[in-house]
Amino acid sequence: MNSFYNPMFLSKVLKIYMFDINRLKNLNEETLKKYQDKAFRNMVKYAYTVPLYHDKYKKAGVYPDDITKIEDIKKLPIISKNDFDNYTPDGIISPKTKRDQLIKITTSGTTGKSLSLYGDMYDVVTWLFWYIRVIKEHGVNWRKNKMAIIGDFAPHTIASGYVKRGLFSQLSSNRFFSNMQWLNTNDKPKDVIKEVNRFNPEFLGGYVGMLSHLALLKEKGYGDDVNPKWIATIGSILTPPLRKLLEDTFNAEVFEVYGATESGTIAFQCRYGNYHIMSDLVYPEFLKEGKPVESKEQGKLVITKLYGKGTPIIRYGAVNDIVAPLYEKCDCGMPGNLIYKIYGRDDLSLYFSGGRVLLPSSIGDIHGRLLYELKTNKVKHTRITQHSLTNIEIRLIIDKKLKEKKPSVEEIFSVLRKGYQEKVGADVKIDIKEVEKVSKKGPRIVSKVDKSTFKIKQYI
Ligand SMILES: [Zn+2]
Repeated sequence: MNSFYNPMFLSKVLKIYMFDINRLKNLNEETLKKYQDKAFRNMVKYAYTVPLYHDKYKKAGVYPDDITKIEDIKKLPIISKNDFDNYTPDGIISPKTKRDQLIKITTSGTTGKSLSLYGDMYDVVTWLFWYIRVIKEHGVNWRKNKMAIIGDFAPHTIASGYVKRGLFSQLSSNRFFSNMQWLNTNDKPKDVIKEVNRFNPEFLGGYVGMLSHLALLKEKGYGDDVNPKWIATIGSILTPPLRKLLEDTFNAEVFEVYGATESGTIAFQCRYGNYHIMSDLVYPEFLKEGKPVESKEQGKLVITKLYGKGTPIIRYGAVNDIVAPLYEKCDCGMPGNLIYKIYGRDDLSLYFSGGRVLLPSSIGDIHGRLLYELKTNKVKHTRITQHSLTNIEIRLIIDKKLKEKKPSVEEIFSVLRKGYQEKVGADVKIDIKEVEKVSKKGPRIVSKVDKSTFKIKQYI
């Protein structure tokens, strides 16, 4: 049955639209805390009906009644990817929830193994609402302003699940979203910019990689009518140089939205540039050896989702992002906690002598130089393999059509080599080669350094 014809469902959606989009702003620290406590209690109670959590909690000797406030989260065991695998598919949803009301979502599996979980129809709707919350903070009116959103519409993704299979199939009319243009980030950048140019949006949202490509194309004379006032990025980390590239090329206000497939939106940048945690929706912890880190110190993200009747996400430890919290308050006045910096996935990091770790944000910085220093998108594909603490192999596929164009392949090699050596030192061998083909399977960054004996001392 189509949920959108169900009056109960519609009235609940309307309520979320009217009240919940602005909820975070309307709460203060005290009322937010009360809200979190209650939402958390309810989630744990619900999770106890889900076999995966039921078994884990029982084994750990914790029961729903032991959980009265959000601080009690420490009593609960952390859930791993393995736990999910062991209970998928039937053990990760409550037997009380009807399966046909759920939508299956799969994580991208950039590091090999993907993971499936279930969202409910409210996840579908609210996914868009939380995005509206973010853009509203920046003055975008989602019913009025023309918006182009370049999502990942590969069949398995959260965007496909929630937007295509969820929202659009339910509303069965694109008229409702006539001020919105939905594009696919898996399409060629040249095709995408043609479409965006035709639509001439005021707001442009998409992945960092695609948006950087569009910036270069615009510099080359494509997309004269692509002049958005706002740009929102998702996906990989928006490094400062890439941010500047987007700001300068499009002359737009650029802000980052941070989330994970498992938990939905986690944080976003307000107009002051601070990363605000969606504290009424998620409760992230930042842990180092199981203990909370200090302000501005890197920790491993452990995430808890405070809503939804799909697969509960409580103390989920397998997003694998390294994030530093900021224990300060922002002048914009929004309650809840802040994030200092997002460093990216620790399973896509490289490891060096002296306990030094090069996180994806820094690797992105190095490769980003090709875009903002050399202004080139000649590199179609990159694969990085670290063989040892002192040996990195980089394989690049160069776009044949741009082969004759400047800069030369040697210049590209030299910028990368210099970038790595500045970060990791001259004693590390950087072996860069152009190849015809690379394996597209598995992660693009692989480190063969034995992590079990590696002691992390410093992120570089
Ligand atoms: Zn703020």
